[in-house]
Amino acid sequence: MIRYEDECVGCTSMGLRCIGRSCRNRHVPHYCCDKCGVEGKLFHFNDDELCAECIIEELNTETSEYEYDEYDVSEEFARVEGS
Ligand SMILES: [Zn+2]
Ligand SMILES: [Zn+2]
Repeated sequence: MIRYEDECVGCTSMGLRCIGRSCRNRHVPHYCCDKCGVEGKLFHFNDDELCAECIIEELNTETSEYEYDEYDVSEEFARVEGS
């Protein structure tokens, strides 16, 4: 997500004429992770913008939720040998 922050440093005090609402410093974009809110380098993951750590976390939970089909190999061998 993009979070805009007011970072106007008081343009008038620096001898500049602050143009108020459209002051560039009042809308400084900060790119934040959709999940943990940490600001930094983000990656698109599904429809979210996540930081690397959250993507790793997402991947880990996805693989752990994945259900494998249990396949009993020993049973299959026994059947082949018996026929
Ligand atoms: Zn300003
Ligand atoms: Zn994150």
